[in-house]
Amino acid sequence: RAKEFKRSGFLHYRPEHSRRAHTRLALEVQLRRAIERQQLIVYYQPQYDLVTEQVASVEALVRWHHPQRGLIPPGEFVPIAEESDLIIEIGSWVLREACRQAMAWHKAGYPLLRISINVSARQLLRPEFVSEVAAILHSSGLPANWLELEITEGVMLDDPIYAARQIDQLRQLGIRIALDDFGTGYSSLAYLRQLRLDALKIDQAFVRAIDEQSNMVTNSRALLRAIINLAHSLGLAVIAEGVETPEQRSALISMGCDILQGYLFAHPLPADEVWPTILRLQNGRAPAD
Ligand code: C2E
Ligand code: MG
Ligand code: MG
Ligand code: MG
Repeated sequence: RAKEFKRSGFLHYRPEHSRRAHTRLALEVQLRRAIERQQLIVYYQPQYDLVTEQVASVEALVRWHHPQRGLIPPGEFVPIAEESDLIIEIGSWVLREACRQAMAWHKAGYPLLRISINVSARQLLRPEFVSEVAAILHSSGLPANWLELEITEGVMLDDPIYAARQIDQLRQLGIRIALDDFGTGYSSLAYLRQLRLDALKIDQAFVRAIDEQSNMVTNSRALLRAIINLAHSLGLAVIAEGVETPEQRSALISMGCDILQGYLFAHPLPADEVWPTILRLQNGRAPAD
């Protein structure tokens, strides 16, 4: 990478470098083809609302159905796509597909679910992004307030003023904005001051620390409680991700967290398994409309 090159001042030639670069290039070529061949699929992970005791929303998480390698998780191709304009194409496709799916469930007779979609910095910072999202909402028929976009602090590293402006315009359309992976970056608090948001997603690392066996647990819990209180005093909803154990669930409930997401409730699921799982989770209770 150019950045690594700059940092080290000069590049040592090592055979594994060129091999890695080659694999990467091959992956990029295949990924470009994957979009055309419709090998990308969206999985959906339920988010459980503690107030209504219902699944209120699902997060769209992209996967790549590779003909030889099977299902590839986004961690293995989204970062590569983010280094080029590939992420723009993938991102637009996920937006269109997830909004279409949300309306398809609704047309099949289920109540509307809010849909949460991850957006890369490169996508958000494109001048056309706001009008593109508006057009997708219009053509899918999904009302704007049923869409939430998850952004990470990457948007603030590139162009904080423009990012804030884009976010304001999206919110004016009625779209909700959540800050993803909160607490992992260097200046998460500064972003809370600069951005108008609707929700904070607390990073899995904090949730995992709840029941770890170490003397940092008291620290982690205190920090978690403080983050939740801070978010609430700013009028933001708090979503905890990566909830895996009943201990984590009860700790987060006692701390006043609003929404829980994690394997304890449901894994990310293919579209046709979403509603059967939601109905099971809600224990046969009819979902509120
Ligand atoms: P994220 O947005 O922070 O998504 C949460 C990740 O945590 C997902 O991984 C999800 O499957 C995983 N997860 C959920 N519950 C649990 C749990 O209880 N335990 C553990 N250990 N993990 C859990 P996934 O699907 O592999 O996605 C990884 C990342 O890839 C996402 O992190 C997001 O940053 C990115 N990503 C996924 N889809 C898209 C997309 O459509 N566009 C963009 N730009 N990024 C995407
Ligand atoms: Mg996310
Ligand atoms: Mg996250
Ligand atoms: Mg993440």
